[in-house]
Amino acid sequence: MNILLLGSGGREHALAWKIAASPLADRLFCAPGNAGIAQEAECVALDLADHQAVIAFCRANKVDFVVVGPEGPLVAGIVDDLEAAGIKAFGPTRAAARLEGSKGFTKDLCRANNIPTAAYERFAAPDAAKAYVRSRGAPIVVKADGLAAGKGVVVATTVAEAEAAIDMIAAQAELGTQLVVEEFLAGEEASFFVLSDGEHALPLATAQDHKRVLDGDQGPNTGGMGAYSPAPVMTPQMSERALAEIVRPTIAAMKKLGAPFRGVLYAGLMITADGPKLIEYNVRFGDPETQVLMLRLMSDLVPALVAARDGMLKSFDLRWYGDAALTVVMAAKGYPGTYLKGTRIDGLPEAATVEGVEIFHAGTAADGDRVLANGGRVLNVSALGQTVGEAQTRAYAAIDKIRWPEGFCRRDIGWQAVAREKAPAGG
Ligand code: AMP
Repeated sequence: MNILLLGSGGREHALAWKIAASPLADRLFCAPGNAGIAQEAECVALDLADHQAVIAFCRANKVDFVVVGPEGPLVAGIVDDLEAAGIKAFGPTRAAARLEGSKGFTKDLCRANNIPTAAYERFAAPDAAKAYVRSRGAPIVVKADGLAAGKGVVVATTVAEAEAAIDMIAAQAELGTQLVVEEFLAGEEASFFVLSDGEHALPLATAQDHKRVLDGDQGPNTGGMGAYSPAPVMTPQMSERALAEIVRPTIAAMKKLGAPFRGVLYAGLMITADGPKLIEYNVRFGDPETQVLMLRLMSDLVPALVAARDGMLKSFDLRWYGDAALTVVMAAKGYPGTYLKGTRIDGLPEAATVEGVEIFHAGTAADGDRVLANGGRVLNVSALGQTVGEAQTRAYAAIDKIRWPEGFCRRDIGWQAVAREKAPAGG
């Protein structure tokens, strides 16, 4: 098969690394890709917003299968357009991608199908949202309805903060005018991934990520500063509850709506005292969770993606390594605010020699033999180990060989899991 992967981040590097290892892959293209992905795939400069250009490239290069990484093109309907042109594509249609594209759509779907989630109301005007906030009190959570790359959610600890968040969102036209205000959920977060073919759900491994920029889970939210798998909080019983109470009812409801969900359904969960509750859906692989999932996946990924596209997941199975995996994001200083681009990164070959380590590029560009930072999140230094603790030690050993003065990372990725591993048995 000739395969085209769309995207340019660490998620796509991990997917390219896994797809390139498949005996089914003849040629692998990636658009637009990055300096690391170029080691696995032929990178091509396509504008993902230009669906006709992507289709023309597929025709000219006999692409049999397209794998879509990021949510933007999915919400914009790239899978609809590819399939209409006779090109098989992995990912949800525009109608199914509403599970990520509209928080209000997802909340209403939960309410209609008794899927556990935070209590909420939707608002079209800031004043009504503020009145609701005052009637409920803090802590309370304010969200923009549409895609906001992680910037449209404010967990407010006071009413004043919630009101300011409503004004902030209302002032940003690109976030849309719709707001969701919801109950604050206390608990531990976990990411739960399934492949869906529109009818059946095949669970992938579990993961936990760190969204805050600073050690100790402090500071502003980011796209994710690190992740590890498995997630200790997702015991087999908890995974079964998430499937039975949240994921399967969602897949059934989408089918009933005439918008069957095919692709990766990524449920962001809060594990509360009452069990798992849905925080949000994403309709694609997580970033950086995919980096740890791909390290742990023993089976070939390509047949699983094709089976999801073809509606053939019913008796499909995937095998996973028992090892743990952990990834640390190295970001440009200043991220998630403003940061410099084009700074030079050295020491990557030495870092890659550390046992169990795989370095995925999230935002790099090549300048001859040199690697330059080309984004906020720049590298995902990832490692396998017998425990999360061992994977963590290996990842930081590799990081200490990387010379990049303009970069930084958190030093505590995986702390909850490592603390659990160190706790005396039964404690
Ligand atoms: P989202 O973009 O919806 O995943 O929200 C980003 C982050 O905000 C989540 O990962 C949570 O840490 C936090 N969050 C969102 N909704 C809630 C909620 N209802 N209760 C507590 N925390 C929340």
